[in-house]
Amino acid sequence: MKLILIILQILIEFHFFQCNPLYQKSFLNHRLYSIDIGNNLTIVELLNSLRDKMDIDFWQEPTINAERVSFRVAPDYHSNLESVLKQNFLPFKILIEDIQQLIDREKEENNQIMRNSYASGRQTLDDFRLDYYHTYNEIMMFIENLERKHPAIAKVITIGETYEFHPIKGIKLGIKTNETKPCIWIDAGIHAREWIAPATAVYVIYKLAVKQEVDPEIKQLLTAFDWYIFPLLNPDGYMYAWWTNRLWRKNRSTPKAVPIRYPWKLFDECIGVDLNRNFDISFGGSSTSGNPCSEIFRGDYAFSEKETKAVRDMIMSLGSQLSVFITLHSYSQMWMYPYGYKIEKARDGELLHNITKKVISAVNKKHGERYRYGPIATTIYPTSGSSPDWVYEKAKVKYSFIVELRDRGNNGFILPRNFILPTAEETWEGIKVLMKEIQL
Ligand SMILES: [Zn+2]
Repeated sequence: MKLILIILQILIEFHFFQCNPLYQKSFLNHRLYSIDIGNNLTIVELLNSLRDKMDIDFWQEPTINAERVSFRVAPDYHSNLESVLKQNFLPFKILIEDIQQLIDREKEENNQIMRNSYASGRQTLDDFRLDYYHTYNEIMMFIENLERKHPAIAKVITIGETYEFHPIKGIKLGIKTNETKPCIWIDAGIHAREWIAPATAVYVIYKLAVKQEVDPEIKQLLTAFDWYIFPLLNPDGYMYAWWTNRLWRKNRSTPKAVPIRYPWKLFDECIGVDLNRNFDISFGGSSTSGNPCSEIFRGDYAFSEKETKAVRDMIMSLGSQLSVFITLHSYSQMWMYPYGYKIEKARDGELLHNITKKVISAVNKKHGERYRYGPIATTIYPTSGSSPDWVYEKAKVKYSFIVELRDRGNNGFILPRNFILPTAEETWEGIKVLMKEIQL
């Protein structure tokens, strides 16, 4: 039944609506607006009320704690939106005049036009470039090549498959010892459009696997810990973002029901679940939606999705060995720890605060960027059903973090290629400090 649904979905996407298999959704003249929230609940309520009316795609959720909020609006709504904002005496900025221009630039920078998923010319370890965004296949091939080249320390593991039957793979890195070692989990790409996250995870994998040969500090980190790194937790969404809709966030599962008022969206926005709202922790709470057409659709029930189930089962199988959990996202430049689903301070709040302070000082020092830190709910916004809270509360992993990588809004999700290395380097500095602190 599911297979039939998927085939139907593909047929409709490629033949009836889009005709051309190379179809890519255009964001021509879509603007990115920004408004300072300034603890003003009226602004939050106003923006939320415009969400459906003006088809607003929030790149940062409008909540009372947010410093500012950025959102994408299609050209049809520009004048309406601006007059509503002016009527309410709300100053706004236009951060990006034409989002499609950024997407086109990114395609050129990544030589995306010349590439397809089967032949990219960058598939061997020697020609693998860390300063490019890579396709799903390239990243999978990268970890498989590493395993082949460094079999003593690297092992590719598959934790499950996606809705569209793609394997969810990661790599385990560690120097074998006679003892059972604590381990660290790093994942990326649970949100499809946040490309800097997988690129950063790939960098961390490269550093650990390749540079351990020449760097005693890295060798020590591989001796003390086993590293489980999953650069792409949402392959279906990532591929869809790569090939069809650059701003796709969710996975690609078909909803059971779609609100009748959105029939034209059935095979567009109404596909997919926000995987980072699908974990079994305060499921259905703040910053989630029960509407399948929403960007923050939480799914029909907790762990309804194959991708989140795979994460749950793997984390549970690691048991008390798992000491550190880091999930990489973008953007906003923040290192955060639980809770997200409530304002209450976590039982390890003091410890997490002190350790993150040290991490942040290393991160900020590397390239002089400013990252903020603190509990999720008060640093970015309250959010329910997310992985760091579930890992902290249910899997009892004390050091649980969510990192929002660069930038702070000028490019948002379409972060140019030249930001990849600096972002990855400063994050790697932070991870090293964290792991050393934990060892003390
Ligand atoms: Zn995210």
